[in-house]
Amino acid sequence: MANVADTKLYDILGVPPGATDNELKKAYRKLAKEYHPDKNPNAGDKFKEISFAYEVLSNPEKRELYDRYGEQGLREGSGGSGGMDDIFSHIFGGGLFSFMGSQSRSRNGRRRGEDMMHPLKVSLEDLYNGKTTKLQLSKNVLCSSCNGQGGKSGAVQKCSACRGRGVRIMIRQLAPGMVQQMQSVCSDCNGEGEVINEKDRCKKCEGKKVIKEVKILEVHVDKGMKHGQRITFTGEADQAPGVEPGDIVLLLQEKENEVFQREGNDLHMTHKIGLVEALCGFQFTFKHLDGRQIVVKYPPGKVIEPGCVRVVRGEGMPQYRNPFEKGDLYIKFDVQFPENNWISLEKLSELEDLLPSRPEVPTIISDTEEVDLQEFDNTRGSGGGQRREAYNDSSDEESTHHGPGVQCAHQ
Ligand SMILES: [Zn+2]
Ligand SMILES: [Zn+2]
Repeated sequence: MANVADTKLYDILGVPPGATDNELKKAYRKLAKEYHPDKNPNAGDKFKEISFAYEVLSNPEKRELYDRYGEQGLREGSGGSGGMDDIFSHIFGGGLFSFMGSQSRSRNGRRRGEDMMHPLKVSLEDLYNGKTTKLQLSKNVLCSSCNGQGGKSGAVQKCSACRGRGVRIMIRQLAPGMVQQMQSVCSDCNGEGEVINEKDRCKKCEGKKVIKEVKILEVHVDKGMKHGQRITFTGEADQAPGVEPGDIVLLLQEKENEVFQREGNDLHMTHKIGLVEALCGFQFTFKHLDGRQIVVKYPPGKVIEPGCVRVVRGEGMPQYRNPFEKGDLYIKFDVQFPENNWISLEKLSELEDLLPSRPEVPTIISDTEEVDLQEFDNTRGSGGGQRREAYNDSSDEESTHHGPGVQCAHQ
C-alpha cells in the first residue's frame, strides 16, 4: 500500500525510508556534529532540520504517522500545537524546500498557509454506495472591516523586541558540543511580530486581522473510496494576511462493518452452515451493502469443508472512478457439527453405511498402550484463545497452498 509520498525527513538524514533505528541514530550523530552551529555557523537552519527529522523518526508513533500520511500525518498527530508549527512550516511549508519541488510556496510567491486535516468517519455502506454529506467547520477568514490590516492604515508597527519575527531564539548548552536551540514566542507582541496602537485597533477583529467564520463544506464520498484516501478542498483552510490559504484535507476513516471485511476491492464474510448443508447443498440469503437481498445457492452433491472459502465474482466493492467494475466477495464457511450423542447407535451405523468408508483398522500387535482422548477447552490453551475450533487452525494452514478463493483461502 504505497501512499507514502513524503521522504523529506529521511532525505535530511540521508537514510532510506526503511532505515533501522540504529542507522538513524548514526546518521543523526554524524550530521549533528557536522552542522553544529558552533562548528558550522554558516549552515543556517540545517542543524534544526536534522534535529527535527531525528526527533520524528526516532519516535515510533510519529514515524508511523509520517510513513503513512507524510507531513499531514504529523500535523494531525501533533494536534496543531504551537511550537511544532514553526519547524513544520520551516521544513514542509516554508521557503527552504521550495526548490525541491514542494508545493509550499504558491505561484505568486506568497507564503502558503497550513493545510487543515480532518478525519472523516465513513461506513462501508457509504463507500459502497457513495454519499454526499455536509461538514460544518469553523475557520479564520480575513476581517472585512479592516481588510485584514488589524486597524487603520499606519496603526500597525513592527515589534521592536523581536524585530518583527514574533519569536526569540535561545541557545542552551546541554553538554560540551551539544546545544539545544529553543524558540520562544515573543511576549511583547504575542508572536505577532507587530503591535497595534490600542485606539487605532479594528473593533470587529480586535486587531487580530481575522475572524472566525462557520463554513459548510459539501463532501462527496465517491463509490469505491478507501480508508486513508484524502478529499481535498483547495484553499479552504484558515486565511491569514499575506498568506495563501492552505487546503482542507479530509482523511477517510472506514468504520468496521459487522458482516463484511474489506481488502482492497474485495469483500470477505463468514457464514455458518450445518453438517447437512455442508454435505447436501444449501441456499441462504444475506443483505448486501446497497440493501439488495442476495441468494446464495450451492447444489446438492457439492461439499463444503469446514473453514473453506468460496467466491462470488463481482459482488465486492465498486472500483473508485469505475464503479460498474466490482471486486469479488469471498465467503468463508464455518461448519457447525452436531453435539455428542445426537443420534442413536443404530442410526449411527446406518449413517456409517451411507458415508464414505473408514480406513482399514490397523492390526493391533501385542505390546501396545491404549490412551484416552479427552475433551479439551482450547480457549484456555497456549495459543491465548484466539481460535476456537481446532479445525480452523488446520484449514488455515492449508490455505497458504491455494490461491485465494479457489479452495481454502485465508482471510
Ligand atoms: Zn478587523
Ligand atoms: Zn515581538
